[in-house]
Amino acid sequence: MIKILENVSLKEKNTFAVESIAKYYTEILNENQLLSLLETNAFQSSRKYFLGGGSNTLFLGDFDGIVIHLVNKGIKFIENNKYFAILDVEAGVGWHNFVEITLRNKLFGLENLALIPGTVGGAITQNIGAYGAELKDFIVDVRGVDIRSGRFITFQANDCKFGYRTSIFKSDLKGKFIITSSKLKLQKKPNVNLSYPELRKIVKKFPFIKPDPKYIFEQVVKLRQSKLPDLIKYPNAGSFFKNPIVNEGIYSRLKKEFPDVPAFEVTNGLYKIPAGWLIEKAGWKGKRIGNVGTYEKHSLVIINYGVKTGLEVLDFAKLIQKDVYEKFGISLENEVEIVN
Ligand SMILES: Cc1cc2nc3c(=O)[nH]c(=O)nc-3n(C[C@H](O)[C@H](O)[C@H](O)COP(=O)(O)OP(=O)(O)OC[C@H]3O[C@@H](n4cnc5c(N)ncnc54)[C@H](O)[C@@H]3O)c2cc1C
Repeated sequence: MIKILENVSLKEKNTFAVESIAKYYTEILNENQLLSLLETNAFQSSRKYFLGGGSNTLFLGDFDGIVIHLVNKGIKFIENNKYFAILDVEAGVGWHNFVEITLRNKLFGLENLALIPGTVGGAITQNIGAYGAELKDFIVDVRGVDIRSGRFITFQANDCKFGYRTSIFKSDLKGKFIITSSKLKLQKKPNVNLSYPELRKIVKKFPFIKPDPKYIFEQVVKLRQSKLPDLIKYPNAGSFFKNPIVNEGIYSRLKKEFPDVPAFEVTNGLYKIPAGWLIEKAGWKGKRIGNVGTYEKHSLVIINYGVKTGLEVLDFAKLIQKDVYEKFGISLENEVEIVN
């Protein structure tokens, strides 16, 4: 039996904590419930939004449709040998909780992605990344239902079109495919990923500590807690914009005008410029207008200080985009999913 509720507040279901009333709202425990949902009139006749932890979502106002929230939380071993394990994890599992479980079971690889809010379903959609790691590198396949045909499909990782904070589930299949589970491959050998300079610096600072995945997990948690605002006090959705990737010509022009511009070469001739740096240089670090502002320690994070609707947050973000464009000729793209 599935329950479809009417006029449900989403304020506590998104980390921006903006008010939004969903016309219909349902929580799905398993694949059978999902199939029953597809048959309902409320589902067939409404706009749909698939909601995980709401940590990358900005509702602009009330949602005149159905919000589908997966709460399936199973995790099981598919393969477990001397070298690696493959786990099948359901979309409703909390991401950070899952990272902790893998480490407790001495399965390694996800420690650099610790403390990212949200669910496994959201993490796959976004192809989350942090501290030199990206989720795509651990995914074997992704299973879910195509809501147009009602058929379950399994996509191999190579077919998921994973990219920087994107996937096929956020592009071609956006709004058409509900992820129900995924298989992830994790290693038993405790290798650590120190590709991120800040982590390397910590490890160098304490040469008598041999860094293992648990140590990296703890350092990532510490770093994130020191840099990111407390979600309860300062509701936000992490980085509001993606870091822009520019070509050699734009990078050279920037470098001439701003010799201190930081940049990371992603592939031949393409450079990722930290959006936080651009925003700060444009004068927006810690700036507040009414009940919206950027975080004083991290200008890429926009905070809701008590807005009436998400629209106020978006208006603020647009002012930043405009200034950054005028100053640098670079367009900032939203990382946060805007829902109206
Ligand atoms: C304080 C803070 C720090 C953050 N740090 C990082 C970081 O370091 N790196 C990073 O990459 N992100 C970061 N984020 C952003 C966010 O946590 C991630 O993008 C997260 O994976 C979103 O998961 P969610 O379940 O909350 O997704 P939601 O916001 O609920 O949804 C995001 C998108 O996924 C879709 N979706 C969710 N579940 C499903 C499903 N089952 N099937 C199909 N589509 C689905 C939604 O429709 C939407 O398009 C941060 C956010 C916050 C608040």
